[in-house]
Amino acid sequence: MSGDKPWISGNLRITKEAMKAIEEEAIRCYPSEACGFVAGPAQDPLLLDETIHEVNEADKYHALDPETFPRTSRTYFKLNELRASRRFEEGEKSGRPIKVIYHSHTDTTAHFSEEDAYTFASDGQLMWPCAFIVVSVVDGKVEERRLHIHRPGTNEFEESTLEIIDG
Ligand SMILES: [Zn+2]
Repeated sequence: MSGDKPWISGNLRITKEAMKAIEEEAIRCYPSEACGFVAGPAQDPLLLDETIHEVNEADKYHALDPETFPRTSRTYFKLNELRASRRFEEGEKSGRPIKVIYHSHTDTTAHFSEEDAYTFASDGQLMWPCAFIVVSVVDGKVEERRLHIHRPGTNEFEESTLEIIDG
């Protein structure tokens, strides 16, 4: 599965600018969780060079249906799935695929939570063809950045390396 999408297996490089864009958004949204995508050129599969912010819809769902969605954007993030699938499709077509979904954690570490794993893997299958960056913001400052990848055939994720490079 990772054959034509090698970024799923991690060991990615991200430009300073793209990382900075994630961190600024994470700080701006604090104490809510920020989320979005990171894209890069198809011809350099392990390079990430463009951050695209998305709206965290957790509060919208929570307001509409607090029983099904008990958590707010403070501890949870929810992407708009229709917009997400469009982004993935457009990225494929334009030669600039979405390689990463990013989100932030607030006042905790940049681990991949059980909730994150439940959101992004089911029956051993990865839900979106990408890897995952989590940044943690503690007291309004970025503390950690970690890259997580799916362990094929399971609903589990493990950490991989993310190198920040001069763009
Ligand atoms: Zn999370």
